[in-house]
Amino acid sequence: MRGLDYIFFINQFPLFIIWYCLLSFALLHIQTSNLKPHYFCSNMEIIDAKYLISSPSVAECPKPDRPEYAFIGRSNVGKSSLINMICNKKEVAKVSSSPGKTQMINHFSITSADRKSWYLVDLPGYGYAKRSLAQRKTWQKMIMGYIKERQNLVNLFVLIDSRLDPQKIDLEFINQLGEWQVPFALVFTKADKSTQRETAANVKNFLATMRQSWQFLPPHFVTSAVKHLGSKALLNYIDTLNIEFYKESQSQ
Ligand code: GDP
Repeated sequence: MRGLDYIFFINQFPLFIIWYCLLSFALLHIQTSNLKPHYFCSNMEIIDAKYLISSPSVAECPKPDRPEYAFIGRSNVGKSSLINMICNKKEVAKVSSSPGKTQMINHFSITSADRKSWYLVDLPGYGYAKRSLAQRKTWQKMIMGYIKERQNLVNLFVLIDSRLDPQKIDLEFINQLGEWQVPFALVFTKADKSTQRETAANVKNFLATMRQSWQFLPPHFVTSAVKHLGSKALLNYIDTLNIEFYKESQSQ
């Protein structure tokens, strides 16, 4: 080592030690922390998403052997696009909109990077103008049966179009969930279609309307399938609920 290099090395040595200690501490913290998935957001990445089955009633759904998350909303709210976004697959939800399956409970088997499996369910939405009265009654019976009786349903995601003022049909559905005491979260879709300020104002307006009849507000997410926005937050939420689900089922 030349003289000047040697002096530089000696001068910087304490700094190297400090950096080394800080780095070791950070790595140790990450390894032992419960927040590990949130540091890297990798555990919740979906590595496999497969269409499984379409069932006409809750009795015919797959065995309730893992946590389940269902998605519902008005027609055209962006449900298929949202499901494709979170599964990171272009057309995974296309199958549920194929003939014969639009009125069914559509199950997808999901495996996340932590090798945990869960079900994602694409439910037929409400507010289809073309449905006859008989079809609406069948829908009501099926959805009520599914939501009230599905034992492993951890959370229902109710999709709301972020561009619109609060819609009566959405509020009525949400109030019904309250009566049934079903855990749910709101997912505001198509956030890219308005400015951030407009979207924030619409979300605020929706929550304020809910507050008139609700004491506690559910969690909510703002998403855009076009800009791939909100997917990580949604998946992290599912991850948190999955951890609780598996903890509870181990303690039983
Ligand atoms: P679904 O009927 O609820 O399953 O809705 P789709 O996912 O089929 O979406 C309905 C329409 O909205 C389609 O034309 C989509 O391209 C469009 N769409 C869905 N999500 C978004 C989004 O996040 N941003 C924008 N700009 N368009 C969207």
